[in-house]
Amino acid sequence: MNDLKIITKRALGVLILSLLLVIGLIIFSIKYTKEASDWAQYPANKHIYANGQLMNTGTIYDRNGKFLFKIEEGSGKYNENKLIRESVMHAVGDSGGNIITSARVVFADRLNGWDFLNGSYRFNNKLSKFSSDVKLTLDADLCATAYKALNGRKGTVGVYNYKTGEILCMVSSPSFDPMNPPDIDGNPEKYEGVYINRFLSATYTPGSIFKLVTAAAAIDNIDDIDSKTYHCEGNLEINGKLVTCMSSHGDITFKEALAESCNIAFAEISLDVGANTLQKYAEKAGFNSSLEVNDIKTAVGKVDLKEAKGADLAWAGIGQYTDLANPLNFMTYVGAIANDGVRISPRIRKDNILSNVCTSVTGKKRILSKETADKLGDMMRNDVMQVYGENNYKGLELCAKSGTAEVGNDKKPHAWFVGYMDREDCPLAFAVIVENGGLGGTVAGPVAATVLQKAVDLLQEE
Ligand SMILES: [Zn+2]
Repeated sequence: MNDLKIITKRALGVLILSLLLVIGLIIFSIKYTKEASDWAQYPANKHIYANGQLMNTGTIYDRNGKFLFKIEEGSGKYNENKLIRESVMHAVGDSGGNIITSARVVFADRLNGWDFLNGSYRFNNKLSKFSSDVKLTLDADLCATAYKALNGRKGTVGVYNYKTGEILCMVSSPSFDPMNPPDIDGNPEKYEGVYINRFLSATYTPGSIFKLVTAAAAIDNIDDIDSKTYHCEGNLEINGKLVTCMSSHGDITFKEALAESCNIAFAEISLDVGANTLQKYAEKAGFNSSLEVNDIKTAVGKVDLKEAKGADLAWAGIGQYTDLANPLNFMTYVGAIANDGVRISPRIRKDNILSNVCTSVTGKKRILSKETADKLGDMMRNDVMQVYGENNYKGLELCAKSGTAEVGNDKKPHAWFVGYMDREDCPLAFAVIVENGGLGGTVAGPVAATVLQKAVDLLQEE
């Protein structure tokens, strides 16, 4: 009887000890998961740091293996071309680590040669097959072309492959040369928001590009939308509030209304569709949620129609009211229109740890039916043929929509131009914004044309 008691006691003791061990392991694992990267990169770690400076890092390359950045013997080395340095500054990062979405910040573990399973593998020969280099999907020459086309104006240009998700171009202006940082605090206006990558982290009033969202809702929810005629006198009073249009379009069909960007037709369409449905289509299009681009979260665009009635709802359907769009997120909506209604997740990394080349699509989601996407695409093609001018976009098979987003305060509107090339060999979608630039089609359109022509040339060389 006594023996049995002792054995039971011992068993209990062993059980308690094992439990403690398991609990300890769990606590360690949680701490490790959360903090291991910090431990390995702790500045006292002499392998990696000297005098608080990183000694050596892996190299950041563009999609074609063009050198963009590395730290060698404690000093930063950049591409030799100043235009390229400025163009990719937001993507690569500055020496102060101010661009929190940059490769130097977000992919620091990789560049430092650290990973969760293997620890600091750069200093372990057995693991030398693991690279600490980062290969971006960006084309540095295309970024340079886009940055130059913005010509000192504030704004952003993004281009991505709507079939693979690879971002080929991502520039944000103002920028600066990270090798010779200017006096930013001394020029607050010139360098306003310079540490923000506007493509990833900014939101803007969308203006008429939002008609692509309202149009999708209309195609799916208004019977015989194609046989309807709207009438535009240049303004429309709804319950005492005014909706205005850029011109008096007279009688106008749905298709013409998108091409001419008629506010009055789209005001009526918005009221017809209703706030709930419009809200639903905005959310399908990516509003009110952020996208993840290799661990980088985009800013959240906003559409909130809870209180929107009458003229407010009409203005919301025209992309004004309280609507806000993130450029990258909206670009992927346009990409989904191009890709039969399926949105491919965007990405900025072309490598993975073993092969250095990663071509697989990271995520896809159907956000529009194929029929709706096809119809919208035809209408966007018609916009170019009827209004923007096929001659301005020769050979691009361009489908597009402009936006001229009113921002108040006596400032010029933001100029938007979004769209895609309907070409099997160049499946690219894009978004261009010139802040306070004026008319979308005439100001942002030519930037898009320059960048896309260059993209066609570059893709054919690849
Ligand atoms: Zn009109």
